[in-house]
Amino acid sequence: MKKCVECGAIQNNKHFYCIDCNKRLGPPLTEEEEKKEAIKIKETINDLSNKADCFYVSKTDKAIICLLCIFSLLHALLILFGANYYRENQLYWLGIILILLSLSIAIDLRFPRISWQLYKLRYIFVFDNIDDLEPSRFALLSRRFFSKLILIIVAIAFVIMFILSFYKIPAPAPINEGNIIIDWNTTQY
Ligand SMILES: [Zn+2]
Repeated sequence: MKKCVECGAIQNNKHFYCIDCNKRLGPPLTEEEEKKEAIKIKETINDLSNKADCFYVSKTDKAIICLLCIFSLLHALLILFGANYYRENQLYWLGIILILLSLSIAIDLRFPRISWQLYKLRYIFVFDNIDDLEPSRFALLSRRFFSKLILIIVAIAFVIMFILSFYKIPAPAPINEGNIIIDWNTTQY
């Protein structure tokens, strides 16, 4: 096995010149180098076939799944510890929607095959054999884009809700108007 120093093409020992760029080839690779090259080629092939598989869960997907789970847990903790704020402002529904949203997106990302099976059920009366249907490239891209968007929304919502639940806006200082003292803290409406 020989490797071209110019373009990196791998070729047979019989060649003296690179079949790709016509550069003169050096001596054959050592056994150690050949092993390394074989591993590299295997990795490249794996990578390409993963990209071709529309249901492949990438590392980025996994990171987003992790973050979505973390933020839904944080929202749950916030509801638990900021319960007063949520009760006073009747915001439980918002917290629960955010948790359900991030969990459902995480499940959809983690198990793309299952969500695709559910998704294509809508075509059951349109096509004879829905098993042959494959998601379009656009559908896959928009699914990944949507998951990132939801992650950003859930994260921003957490920061805002966290600040609102634990940072109390101070009441204005009492104003002395003649003899009447208006104390905002004790004034009854
Ligand atoms: Zn070459």
